[in-house]
Amino acid sequence: MRVETMVVGPLKTNAYVLVDEPSGEAAVVDPGAAGLRIADALKAAGATLKFILTTHGHADHTGGAFDLRRKAGGEYVVGEGDRGQIESPSSSLAAMIPGFANPPAIDRAVTGGESFEIGDTRIFVIATPGHTPGSVSYLSGQALFTGDTLFQNSIGRYDLPGGDGELELQSIKDKLLTLPDQMIVYPGHGPSTTIGEERANNPFLQGV
Ligand SMILES: [Zn+2]
Repeated sequence: MRVETMVVGPLKTNAYVLVDEPSGEAAVVDPGAAGLRIADALKAAGATLKFILTTHGHADHTGGAFDLRRKAGGEYVVGEGDRGQIESPSSSLAAMIPGFANPPAIDRAVTGGESFEIGDTRIFVIATPGHTPGSVSYLSGQALFTGDTLFQNSIGRYDLPGGDGELELQSIKDKLLTLPDQMIVYPGHGPSTTIGEERANNPFLQGV
C-alpha cells in the first residue's frame, strides 16, 4: 500500500490517500477541505476510490467529502458516535470554518472492529473516543491513522463539543500504545511519527 499525504485547508489538516498498488483501488483518510484536489490526484494516478474514511466528524477533516464523493465516488464512512456532529453544522465546527461544504449523506457508520478492503490491502477500524465521541483510528499493515487523537509530541484537544480528556487518554493507552513500536503514526495534523517515539517522548503520555 502506498500512502500519499496532502496538507489541506486553513487548519493544515493531513489528508491521506491510500492506494493498493496492484489493484489501483484506493481509500482516502480525512479528505479535509480538498475534495476536488484529491479527486484530481486519484484520476491522475488511475486509482479507483472505494472508501472515504473519516477519523472524526470535525469539518476540517470531513469538509471535502461532499466534492470527493461527487467526483470520485466511494463509500462515506464515519464513526457512529459522531453522526450527530456531522449532521449538525454548528458542532462539526463547519459554521466556524468558511468555505467548507456540508458532508454527504453517511453510507456507513462504524464503532470499531470493522475492516475495509482495497485490493489485497485490509484496513481495520479501532475505536478511539475522546477527542470526539465517535473518533476512530484506522490501521493497515505498519500504518496507523490517528486523526486528532494522537499527534507527534501531543494529543488531541478535548475541550470541544463532545470531548472527554480522560476517555481520550484511556483510548491512547489501551488501543494505540499497545501496538508495536515500529508502527508509523499518521496524525490528523503535523508530521508523522511512530508508536515507539510517542511512547518514549510524548509529554502527555508519560506515566499513563
Ligand atoms: Zn478534530
